[in-house]
Order: sequence, then C-alpha cells, then structure tokens
Amino acid sequence: MKSRVVFLISAALVVTAGCSNTSSDAVESEDSPVSCTSTTVIDGPVNIATTVAPITSIVANIAGGSGATITGIVPEGTNSHTFEPKPSDAATLENADVIFINGLVLEEPTKDLALANLKDGSFICELGTAVLPASDYIFDFSFPKEGGKPNPHLWTNPPMAKQYAEVVRDVLSRLDPAHADLFARNFAAFAEKIDALDAAMITATATIPEAQRKLLTYHDAYAYFSVHYGYTVIGAIQPSSFDEPTPKEIANLITQVRESGVTAVFGSEVFPSPVLEQIGAETGVRYVDVLRDDDLLGEPGGAEHSWLGLMRFDYVTMVEALGGDASALKTLDVSDVVKDTATYPQ
Ligand SMILES: [Zn+2]
Repeated sequence: MKSRVVFLISAALVVTAGCSNTSSDAVESEDSPVSCTSTTVIDGPVNIATTVAPITSIVANIAGGSGATITGIVPEGTNSHTFEPKPSDAATLENADVIFINGLVLEEPTKDLALANLKDGSFICELGTAVLPASDYIFDFSFPKEGGKPNPHLWTNPPMAKQYAEVVRDVLSRLDPAHADLFARNFAAFAEKIDALDAAMITATATIPEAQRKLLTYHDAYAYFSVHYGYTVIGAIQPSSFDEPTPKEIANLITQVRESGVTAVFGSEVFPSPVLEQIGAETGVRYVDVLRDDDLLGEPGGAEHSWLGLMRFDYVTMVEALGGDASALKTLDVSDVVKDTATYPQ
C-alpha cells in the first residue's frame, strides 16, 4: 500500500520558489505534513479528504472525472467553528493522500486528528492559509485578535474561492500528474463560472442604494466579501464564544441599527438566534434568517447543492433584502463543471 508513494526531490526547489503567496507566518516546506507544496506523486486515483462542504464542492469541481475519491468530514448544518471530529473520522483521514482544510485556525481538532493519522507521504493543505498573507487576516468582534482565530470565511468571497481552486488544481496536478490536463480544464471552466458570479454580484450590488450597502449579520461570514464588494459590516452579533450576546451588547446593536439606517438584518440558518429577531422587532428592520455560509442548498446530488449554488442564494438574499435588483444573479448557470461524486456527511 505504502509502496505507491514516490517522492520527487528534484522538483522541490522549483515548486517552493513559485509559492510567493504563502502566509509569512506559515512555515511551509515540501516535506512538511502541513503544506500545499508537497511534491509527493502517487500512482492512481487520489484519495482526498476535506472538511466543510464549500471546500468539498470546490475540490469536487477540480478533481471530477479523475477517479479521485472525495470525502467530507464536517456534516452540513453543524457549527464548523466548534466541530470535533468523531473517532471514526480517523479512518477517512488515514486513507487520504491529501487533506484539504480551510485553515486560519478553523478546523484545529480535525487537523490534529489528521496529523495523528497521516499515512506516509500524505499531507494537509490549508487553502486559506496558503492564499492569504497573515497581514491581510481580518479580526473583528466575533473573531478578536486576542482569541488568535482570524475570520476564516474566505470562501464567501469569489476571488478568494478562485484562489482556493487554483491551489487545489496545483496540488492535484503534482500528486496525480497523469490527470494534470483534466485538472487544468476543470479549473478553467470553474474559474469562468466564478468570474461570472463575481461580475453578476458587482452588477447586482450597483443596484442597491450606496447608503444601504450595509451588513448586520448574526454569523460573521462576510468580512472578506464585504471588502471586495464595498459593503460595510456594521456589526456581527455572534460573540467569539458562540454564546448569545449580552443584554448590553444587544442594546448597543439596537442603537447602531437605528443610527445606521440599515433596511435588513441577517440571521444564519445554522445559528438560529432570538437576538436578531428581537433587534428586528425593536427597530422595525426586516429580519432575514436564511443566510448560510457552509451548509449547501438541498441534498447531495441536487442541482444547487454546490459552492456556486450556495453563494448565489446568499447574494440574491442580501441584494433583495437591501432593496436591490438580483436579476443578474438569478440568470446565472450555477451547475458544477463536472458531476459531483463527493461524499457529504449530513
Ligand atoms: Zn462560519
């Protein structure tokens, strides 16, 4: 079993030199178990493990058609920020040639279990950590700097999701060079759809009166998205402990909502909270509770059960609630570029 692992030492320098985007904090080397620059080559379809469903979907779009097996770890609809893997997840991690995780300290218990069970030559690729320098990490109310956990939600921002896909393409091309052309084609087709989603969101955002481009969310999943599209996050309500905010914090938010003139506040489908409902009721502002950051729509195999479908749904929800016209988003084709055969635990 282990004999199919081969190391290509000679390629190592080239690959490392090409990796200029790596976080300055992350010590990456091609033979570290936590690296997106591993030069391991395997003979045969790649066995891939992933964590949250949006990452699983991005990986599935790149790996599709290569015979790769893709298995997600974090069940959809659970709190990924506090998720603890089951002992039985060790078997999935142990079988994987590569484990794609978000990084930025989102999945430490799963990363620890993976490190304890990695087979020879296997490695963990932290996509977010690979694409975003530590100097660009966003810290805020829900992800305070002193807590040591930056806001990890890069995947709700299409240009960053495209960078994730690019890293996945490069990692898989090194691992399974026989399918490098396929991974390149899948990436090109997927990148085109990401660009179309991005362009449609820019068009749709322009229809929202500028003063209304403000987000008050319960779960703080749109920090990088907001910078990219020009929204102001006036607040996120969920404390870093994932408890409900204190009465004083709620009172402050009510004042902020009144002063800011926002037209809607956004709850999260994964974190139903009476607090946002209360803020909505007390301020007369519309309360929308359906945003989701890592729970794909519908069931696995369904038409919109994908990263593309999830993002389109969130963006349409936001744009319409803030008084804009979401038709540019509604006409998009959000189908995957290849059939998604990944396993999504429910
Ligand atoms: Zn989240």
